[in-house]
Amino acid sequence: MRDELVALAKLAEMDLAAWEFDSELKELPERIDGMRGDAQVLENLLAGERQQLEAAVALRAERADELSLRMTALAKAKAKGAQSRNLKQVDAAEREVEATRRTIKEREDEVASLELAIESKTASLAERERQLGEAMKMLATEQAAAELRLAELRRRREVVLAGREEVAARVSSRTMKRYERQRSTKGKGVVVIDDGTCSNCRMHLPAQLYIEVQKGEESIDCPQCRILLLHRAVVEV
Ligand SMILES: [Zn+2]
Repeated sequence: MRDELVALAKLAEMDLAAWEFDSELKELPERIDGMRGDAQVLENLLAGERQQLEAAVALRAERADELSLRMTALAKAKAKGAQSRNLKQVDAAEREVEATRRTIKEREDEVASLELAIESKTASLAERERQLGEAMKMLATEQAAAELRLAELRRRREVVLAGREEVAARVSSRTMKRYERQRSTKGKGVVVIDDGTCSNCRMHLPAQLYIEVQKGEESIDCPQCRILLLHRAVVEV
């Protein structure tokens, strides 16, 4: 039994060492994914702004065409005025010239405000492109660094876990199951205690139970948090 408890302590030590790598092995790819997500958001914003710019450019072209049609209409109306034979015709021609001029003015204003919109959209598009370029560059750098770091972490994790199977083989399958169950929910399967307190949940152990733990003749759970308790004097021999 004592050998089992010693093996259990060794196992816990290995798993704890590996767990420190595990958290970074998990967090690092998540951080890179987050950065990739941010770049994707920028890319989507950029696509939206490109569409807005294209729409404004198309509208400006349409309005410019209308403007040139109105210019032709104005010239025709003026010519008609010059050929008028009576006051009624002069009046009608003048009204047409005025109306056409008003339309031209409206179209010109519209084209001018579209020009402004296109200018500012082009500038914000350039800014977004710059931001995206930076984000992509940072992503590539971070990704390369993360890959190196992950390889290093995996290598070191393998080192601390070397021989784990042999150690696990010294623990009964029943105890192993309890250990793994605790480990999957609490992050650790056993605690090594120095006094009568469970170092996982801080419970002060009943005196009789503490005596049993000190004897190291069987595996004992904490009555409160159910973690396996080992006494340092038992496992460090
Ligand atoms: Zn406890």
